[in-house]
Amino acid sequence: MARQLGLVACHVCALVCHLTDPSRSAHCPRCAAKLHRRKPQSVARTWALLLTACVLYVPANWLPIMHTGSLFGAQSDTIISGIRYLWESGAYDLAVIVFIASIVVPLAKLIALSLLLISVQIHWTWQPLQRTRLYRALELVGKWSMLDIYVVALLATLVHFQAVASITVGSGAIAFGAVVVLTMLAALSFDPRLIWDTTETDG
Ligand SMILES: [Zn+2]
Repeated sequence: MARQLGLVACHVCALVCHLTDPSRSAHCPRCAAKLHRRKPQSVARTWALLLTACVLYVPANWLPIMHTGSLFGAQSDTIISGIRYLWESGAYDLAVIVFIASIVVPLAKLIALSLLLISVQIHWTWQPLQRTRLYRALELVGKWSMLDIYVVALLATLVHFQAVASITVGSGAIAFGAVVVLTMLAALSFDPRLIWDTTETDG
């Protein structure tokens, strides 16, 4: 491993540098970025972000994501009631897209990251390649995470629009946005090289 050879790649410019004394902080000779062999406190930081996202996932689905008001009355919608509304009004394909993007994908991301963290903490040596692939898939999904937000915006525009109508964002949408951002940050702070560290030390 690069770590055993005293080599470390710069996180900014990818220059491979030689770390002579790992206890002292070193900087990249090319771009002056701080060098570290593994992301500092990766597991603790990822857990903190992930647990906050898990807590906020509850109000994101429980609280209304929008309030619509018109001459005919006011209405508050959660993500689930919005999906049910789309399904009942015959927009089955859209209901499925909203369900996958705003319920299935965020939940799958939370579960997958928790599994990766637990596997690193208990020094699991099983299928490191598959787990690394799972992390790459998470990173890939992270790039499309804002899709969830667009779906909510789409949902807002699709709600019955009368001539005089108003739409305001509910507190559920803020919690939902926070879940998306926190999961992205959690995936970023996780160091996938930790998966391979345990397989090396355990032979
Ligand atoms: Zn550099």
